[in-house]
Amino acid sequence: SKALDINALRAQFPILDQQVNGKPLVYLDNGATTQKPVAVLDALQNYYRGVNSNVHRGAHYLSDEATGQFEGARQTVADFLNASREEILWTKGTTESINIVAQCVAREQLQPGDEVLIATSEHHANIVPWQQACLAKGATLKVIPLHDDCSLDLDAFDQLLSEKTKIFAIGHASNALGTLNPVKEMVAKAKAVGSITLVDGAQAVAHFPVDVQDLGVDFYAFSGHKLFAPTGIGVLYGRRDLLEAMPPYQTGGEMIEVVTFEKSTWNQLPYKFEAGTPNIAGAIGLAAAINWLDNQDRAALEAHENALLARATEQAQAFGGLKIIGTAASKVSVLSFLLDGGHPADVGMLLDKQGVAVRTGHHCTMPLMDSLGIPGTVRASFSIYNTLDEVDRLFEALEKVKTFL
Ligand code: PMP
Repeated sequence: SKALDINALRAQFPILDQQVNGKPLVYLDNGATTQKPVAVLDALQNYYRGVNSNVHRGAHYLSDEATGQFEGARQTVADFLNASREEILWTKGTTESINIVAQCVAREQLQPGDEVLIATSEHHANIVPWQQACLAKGATLKVIPLHDDCSLDLDAFDQLLSEKTKIFAIGHASNALGTLNPVKEMVAKAKAVGSITLVDGAQAVAHFPVDVQDLGVDFYAFSGHKLFAPTGIGVLYGRRDLLEAMPPYQTGGEMIEVVTFEKSTWNQLPYKFEAGTPNIAGAIGLAAAINWLDNQDRAALEAHENALLARATEQAQAFGGLKIIGTAASKVSVLSFLLDGGHPADVGMLLDKQGVAVRTGHHCTMPLMDSLGIPGTVRASFSIYNTLDEVDRLFEALEKVKTFL
């Protein structure tokens, strides 16, 4: 594969070229949200400047045009995940995607004594919806523990999995630590005991290609904004027969077939799950991001991210008084760490003064932090447009931080 032209790539992300606090910006908070390439910014502008109209209400040229682009975007996402378009639901993001399954599957089907199985490392978005469904239905939330390197304890997983497991919901990659989970093997085992399966792909899709057929998973959730697309748009992939059997999530316009004051019937898939005017521009922006990504050499991008992580890990290991949190062999490009004597919030603030943007705190994974006995971490999360120099800038900045602690 051709060598990555990192300068040309960065030039497509205009936000990166700025000073913050008098220093060139080093944006290492990609786990929280990614920046948007010009191709996405242009798609949003072009839509609002030339096409803006409501969808599926036909009757005029712009509406047809908007509908065509909106449904074309759905097909783009379907191809991206290797699914069919009826199985792609637009949502606000991963959180709403998981809530749809928690409401329309878990709260519909769980019985007292049933179990939902998740992992210690889950984001709150993949904990709280299941926890609340379990509380409402008398079911039990079971949690896979971690090894010392923060990889999943797969022997414990085998033991926790049983005929009682009705839903298995697992993060593809951990947002707090970067740990990559062997979801394909786990999904196969969960399906073998008859469980419904969901993978939270929020921290996966920007890093490597995902194929829902290959994973064999029933539901796959992700957010556009972590994939170089706008906020407020996300995706729930669901297996067609499961979506057919589920009741609607919200009711109102667009999701109906026929309405009388006595009763209503539901539209076909995917519209049954899309009440109200959708985020049309967001969907078009997400498709633009996917098309942009498809035009890159993804193997080269993945190799570049791995090189960033390797450099960061090497420097972290050599850095006095720094402890890496999450040392599993298989990770996406995330480095979570603690500095001796430095509260994560203080370290983050001192890095920001030097232009380096990281996230600090519990990263919406309080149970994980509790299990590790720490209040939080400093997290540097790398993306395709970060450079090896920026990794070095992080550690130069950390040397300065140390002098303040
Ligand atoms: N799951 C994971 C693993 C995440 O990283 C995030 C975002 N931090 C979410 C779920 C929730 O995504 P959103 O806030 O876009 O709904």
